Amino acid sequence: MTGPKITALDAAVYVVPTDAPEGDGTLAWDKTTMVVVTAQAGNERGLGWSYTAAAAATLVGEMLADVDRGRDAFDVAGTAEAMARQVRNVGRPGIAAMAISAVDIALWDLKARLLGVPLSGLLGRARDDVPVYGSGGFTTYSDDQTREQLTGWTEKQRIPRVKIKIGESWGSEERRDLARVRLAREVIGPDAELYVDANGGYTAGQAVRVAAAMEEYGVTWFEEPVSSRDPAGLAAIRRQVRPDVTAGEYSWSLADSAALISAGAVDCLQLDVTRCGGVTEFLRGAALAAADNLQVSGHCAPNLHAHVAAAIPNLRHLEYFHDHQRIEGMLFDGTLAPDGGAMHPDPGRPGHGLTLREADAEPFRRLPLLSMRRGGSR
Ligand SMILES: [Mg+2]
Repeated sequence: MTGPKITALDAAVYVVPTDAPEGDGTLAWDKTTMVVVTAQAGNERGLGWSYTAAAAATLVGEMLADVDRGRDAFDVAGTAEAMARQVRNVGRPGIAAMAISAVDIALWDLKARLLGVPLSGLLGRARDDVPVYGSGGFTTYSDDQTREQLTGWTEKQRIPRVKIKIGESWGSEERRDLARVRLAREVIGPDAELYVDANGGYTAGQAVRVAAAMEEYGVTWFEEPVSSRDPAGLAAIRRQVRPDVTAGEYSWSLADSAALISAGAVDCLQLDVTRCGGVTEFLRGAALAAADNLQVSGHCAPNLHAHVAAAIPNLRHLEYFHDHQRIEGMLFDGTLAPDGGAMHPDPGRPGHGLTLREADAEPFRRLPLLSMRRGGSR
């Protein structure tokens, strides 16, 4: 079965300020850049995006658009392979992987819309419910802000699992980390699951000591206690602590996921559809994890993950990340509610069901830097 040819591939950049300063163990930010890709074939348009840098939009225009135009819109795997080959000399990790991911998501959405089916149906539904956990709890928050966010998830939206950031200032604020974990447990009560994410802020020995100190608060998920670039360190920590050790948000390709799995670095593999290579590589990464009897968890961008997550038998959950769910609600129609602790991809809407509200997005639009004016800027 062949489809219409891809006729256009465009990328736009949006920069959205956060609703409060946000930070984790190793980074702080006050705005988020999103690159939105539109792919066209026949009378349909597919939509994909990545939370990345504006350079990803430049890369789509400079390196990927010509490769994709004219290809069969149904041959997404073939186009994904062509894009992977095209970026050989600039390197896949980082910007290129995020650009490819946004395009791949747009192409899967386009194919599903051309066929008039939901993306989860095209991929093959393995589940109706996609469990989520509330994620935020930034190190930059006051106790009151943390309390309000946590009760919003557990009481108002009835999400039975939440995650906060620790490892503040590269692990130099251990006491405050533990005080915030204690606060979180007090606020959410004894029944909700409590997760922490150090974003690689600790040393290995320090992470083991922090895990021991957190035991009384019932923490069951310890994300990136040390950097993901240190699979051996993660594996060593994993052997010594009670919570599940998790990582994978910087897996730019199957090889990165394979490295974490083969090192015995994780109890649950995280995958980000906006970074790993889109829907195509998310499915393969989940299969790789399944072969090792591991579950996967979707990292950030909850609305983009919902449909592919519904096709994953070994899914644990998705990250309902505060910053991204807020942006998705501000700019897109068709976002999904997490109430009760799960998202439910709508089987009645074609594709992933999301459409950009152009008028609402326009104030946040920025031009990608395509060229430098000779002689400097004026
Ligand atoms: Mg993380």
